[in-house]
Amino acid sequence: MQANLMDRFTAIVGERYALRTDADIAPFVTDMRGRYAAPSPLVLRPGSVEEIAAILKLATETGTAIVPQGGNTGLVGGGLPLNNGDGSEVMLSLSRLNKIIELDADSNTMTVEAGVILENIQNAADEADLLFPLSLGAQGSCQIGGNIGTNAGGTGVLAYGNTRDLIMGLEAVLPTGEIWNGLTRLRKDNTGYDLKNLFIGGEGTLGVVTKAVLKLFPKPKGREVAYVALQTPQQALKLFNSAKAQAGNSLTAFEFMAGIAMEMTLKHAQNNVRRPIEGAHPWYVLMEISSSRSAKDARDILEGVLGEALENEIIQDAVLAESLEQQRTFWTLREDMSPAQKPEGASIKHDISVPVGSIPDFIVAADKAVLDIVPDARIVNFGHMGDGNLHYNISQPVGWDADAFFAYEPQIHESVYEQVVAFNGSISAEHGIGQMKRDKLARIKDPTALAMMRSIKDALDPAGIMNPGKVIG
Ligand code: ZN
Repeated sequence: MQANLMDRFTAIVGERYALRTDADIAPFVTDMRGRYAAPSPLVLRPGSVEEIAAILKLATETGTAIVPQGGNTGLVGGGLPLNNGDGSEVMLSLSRLNKIIELDADSNTMTVEAGVILENIQNAADEADLLFPLSLGAQGSCQIGGNIGTNAGGTGVLAYGNTRDLIMGLEAVLPTGEIWNGLTRLRKDNTGYDLKNLFIGGEGTLGVVTKAVLKLFPKPKGREVAYVALQTPQQALKLFNSAKAQAGNSLTAFEFMAGIAMEMTLKHAQNNVRRPIEGAHPWYVLMEISSSRSAKDARDILEGVLGEALENEIIQDAVLAESLEQQRTFWTLREDMSPAQKPEGASIKHDISVPVGSIPDFIVAADKAVLDIVPDARIVNFGHMGDGNLHYNISQPVGWDADAFFAYEPQIHESVYEQVVAFNGSISAEHGIGQMKRDKLARIKDPTALAMMRSIKDALDPAGIMNPGKVIG
């Protein structure tokens, strides 16, 4: 990048917020898992929407690629420079846009800037006795703008929907520098195309989301959590359907985990987390019931569901959390399942969804496909069963070299995605496409859908500056 152009971008945000040394840039161009590391000449940290508009305008004029970034917790390289790119992409960090602008308890909305950390939003809602239900492992560092860009899912989707369902309005800066104010608080608004939904899940390829109006919900009066031990995925499916029938919308989480995922998490847990249920079991479910009436009501529903399941021998054992602290421990065990795979060596990950009723058959077919390739691979399967979403991750065989295992990555991805397609599923349930799954998407998605996406991209981003090489290339 020419020094003169660097200076023009720098002048927009000021010297202090334009990072130009390798040491300052490094944290913005690598990911937690170490799968992405490509250079960037410049990280810009604007402090206002107007500065972002000026940056994008200049980028369009000069054909400079811009990569927007939130908390850098993404898993598909969507907010990072392209691996094998030309190293000229400018990083645009949203972290200084971190204000909660307004909480409107009367219309149950919160208006926030894109760089607010998810946990701060949850806490602000909680203080007003309301709930913002988006909840995921990275919530302490991910930013709402990134959640919007990826249409993040997490553990609250079953009852409240994914990020797309939690957004009422958006403000975004277009690649040309125009600012679109769509910060509506209307529940009903039939005035043409739903533009906000282009940016939600757009992964920063159409513009930069700068503000959002979020939907808030009444905080449940009671919440109860149980760990359940089961023998098979079929039993988990039966339990899910029975819980859904009895609890309806009070069933707020139904997380499903393979025994090996639990064992790895216990092995690598900090602060001596105890096994929630005696003994080792093939499968576990973490179930949460929320009641708008009372804690007793939630407990009654949960005990009813579990009592019937025990009687019908659908489950082997169940333990209800006896305190808020124990509830937190139960959830921590589930949330630590992803990080717990890291010390176990290389992991080949899939974030997939299939229709809920197909989960048991999918597991049989996918397990066979993987083990045909690497017979000693360890299948660390867990996820949000109620949404049909599995984190179907494969850890390297014990004692293997990580690179030797990663050599099988393309073949394992191919076989697993073949099964996903066979079961009418999706190759990305909640993490997005980024650079990781771009080529796969191009091969799998309906050609008409891809052509529509391409037309929209070309119309909004004529110079092709926004996060190039992501989602649709
Ligand atoms: Zn997840």
